[in-house]
Amino acid sequence: LISVQGLRKSFGDHEVLKSIDLSVAHGEVVTIIGASGSGKSTLLRCLNLLESPDAGHVWFHGEDLMDPSTDVNRLREQIGMVFQSFNLFNNKDVLDNCTLAPLTLKLCSKEQAEATAMRRLEQVGLADFAHADVRRLSGGQKQRVAIARALCMNPEIMLFDEPTSALDPEIVGEVLEVMRQLAADGMTMVVVTHEMAFAKNVSDRVVFMDRGVIAEQGDPKQMFTNPQLPRTREFLSRYL
Ligand code: ATP
Ligand code: MG
Repeated sequence: LISVQGLRKSFGDHEVLKSIDLSVAHGEVVTIIGASGSGKSTLLRCLNLLESPDAGHVWFHGEDLMDPSTDVNRLREQIGMVFQSFNLFNNKDVLDNCTLAPLTLKLCSKEQAEATAMRRLEQVGLADFAHADVRRLSGGQKQRVAIARALCMNPEIMLFDEPTSALDPEIVGEVLEVMRQLAADGMTMVVVTHEMAFAKNVSDRVVFMDRGVIAEQGDPKQMFTNPQLPRTREFLSRYL
């Protein structure tokens, strides 16, 4: 569904991504793990061209996002993204946050957008909060709204950048549960996370990044029980 080939990205003379090849199949859940600064967020942001790569290709649905003739905005609408910091509009209620993008892009009527939003809020367990003030929500609720909002665009793939890292430990679980359910429903997902239990139990594949390269990737059970590289072993040992 989405793949990158020979992807490179530098900031100044710091090469953050050094020729990355990765491809994610329809319905697959891929987690990306690795130390701070290894390039996880940059890779994720290159997948929807929030960051523009210096070289390489990003294929989505068989179209090259790097090709100037590709309508990147149209393709990007089908890629949902959830950030560590929620990025909700605090001056709008929950429902308006969910309907804003579809309405601004004139993808449907107000009634349709609200019906979709209610369905998505139900999916994340927040139907009762449709008219709540975003500022009054807990971090876990905010992140679930952010997930519902992304789902309102009916994306084909969801990208998550450390969706639980800003949350208190006791509410991490409610967000992970929503993500687990989404994965079970067949959503294609790429998840940057430090939640090793999620990586191990929910994802189909784990990608370990180290200093701008994919050092190792594979089946989660295999990777966690028998990592091939010493640096993977060393990284994972910090989470035991
Ligand atoms: P973390 O676990 O801390 O989120 P990460 O693996 O997501 O780390 P990136 O955010 O991709 O790492 O950053 C990789 C490197 O690129 C870091 O050294 C970072 O300082 C640098 N970097 C990222 N974005 C920019 C930017 N916009 N300008 C300059 N340097 C950047
Ligand atoms: Mg990051």
